[in-house]
Amino acid sequence: MAKDTFVEQIADIETDFPRWYTDVVVKTKLVDYGPVKGTMVIRPYGYAIWENIQKELDARFKAHGIENAYFPLLIPMSFMTKEAEHVEGFAPEVAVVTHAGGEKLAEPLCIRPTSETIIGSMYSKWIQSYRDLPVLMNQWANVMRWEKTTRPFLRTSEFLWQEGHTVHASEAEAVDMTLKMLAVYEEFAKNCLAMPVLTGRKTEKEKFAGAVATYGMEAMMHDGKSLQAGTSHYLGQNFAKAFDIKFLDKDGTQKYGYTTSFGVSTRLIGAIIMTHGDARGLILPPVVAPVQVVIVPIASKKPGVVEACRELKNTLTKAGVRVVLDESENSPGWKFNEWEMKGVPVRIELGPRDLEAGKMVTVRRDTHEKAEAELSSAAETVKALLATVQTDMYDRAKARMDSRIVRANSLDELLAGVDNANFVRAGWCGCRECEDKVKEFAQATARVMDDENTSETCIVCGKKADHTVVFARAY
Ligand code: ZN
Repeated sequence: MAKDTFVEQIADIETDFPRWYTDVVVKTKLVDYGPVKGTMVIRPYGYAIWENIQKELDARFKAHGIENAYFPLLIPMSFMTKEAEHVEGFAPEVAVVTHAGGEKLAEPLCIRPTSETIIGSMYSKWIQSYRDLPVLMNQWANVMRWEKTTRPFLRTSEFLWQEGHTVHASEAEAVDMTLKMLAVYEEFAKNCLAMPVLTGRKTEKEKFAGAVATYGMEAMMHDGKSLQAGTSHYLGQNFAKAFDIKFLDKDGTQKYGYTTSFGVSTRLIGAIIMTHGDARGLILPPVVAPVQVVIVPIASKKPGVVEACRELKNTLTKAGVRVVLDESENSPGWKFNEWEMKGVPVRIELGPRDLEAGKMVTVRRDTHEKAEAELSSAAETVKALLATVQTDMYDRAKARMDSRIVRANSLDELLAGVDNANFVRAGWCGCRECEDKVKEFAQATARVMDDENTSETCIVCGKKADHTVVFARAY
């Protein structure tokens, strides 16, 4: 039986953004909740976004000479304790296997929360000489971090990610790699996710456990909160010393290597949803959208309509467009709403009158703009339109973020700034007490430091500032 009205209701995006988010991710079938609390099932529509993210990022890593490998899920507990800061940072979230094969294990095994330790242990075996360097590897894997409060994509006990791990002969080369990967993430966020980000160094408090320096990219979500969307770490010789990653240098002496690691995760899917979504649901950037175009036949019982739609589908598919033809029994209006909620960037309507004129109607998901176009040049038109949607989505998100970065000269101004869904730029002296005070007073954290030669004063204590910091409430 045909459905004439669209039944799915989603919460109001302006008044109840958290509900809107969970409604959208579940009702568009991106994700479902797993039987174990805090776990998620990524359904085909969500996984297809991840596959597109993987494809794009993987090509970028390979262009930098990075090779993929795979390391074991289980890590001996003793490895975790070798780097003091690392174990302290991850201990509260680590899941541990104590029994297997019906017996208690001699040594408990961690389920990887990240792989610096196990990869470091292998690198120490593989690296002997400066000729073995640099080592540039990446793995696509799942990791587990036991979380108390969870939300699909944003924070779950198990998630998917990539983690790059490199070893270099010099500090300069390793720092350069760290920043290069940050730049790769930023370019990828812009051109694939249509997502503007702020990049910069993290404070000591916010850095990765065991790193010398962590660099992050932060994106502004619809509610003005920040989402850490990717990080790149310069690890110095911390892990090299803990895992004995040494090489015989050209001068005949043994030296420790310099390592880096960098990662993005399925969190990016949450970031896409919360950067671009609107009252009607998802708006997916064309580059990573599982379905880029949906064709909806109008008056499909009329002769020739379905055939013409199928032909159009073939034409677009051949041109490399990811396209779906909705031949279901539902009414066109129902189909419009459903595919809008699912965030498909472009809809094509094709009915008897269009066919007679040799035309089709295109509708953009992001602006709802309708246009008529020649069927004979459908592939060119659609590809150009998808490119325009992609750029416009970025430009809109960028303009929005830029307009919502404000300056503050006092804690009260900072509080007002974040209360009004802004990122707030302010001077900071560099001490932990002042950073904690901002958190306590405004529930905001230092997201990135973006200027190390500032003439400002600390927003908390009034002393000369070391950095300008972007503060925000964060996911
Ligand atoms: Zn201070």
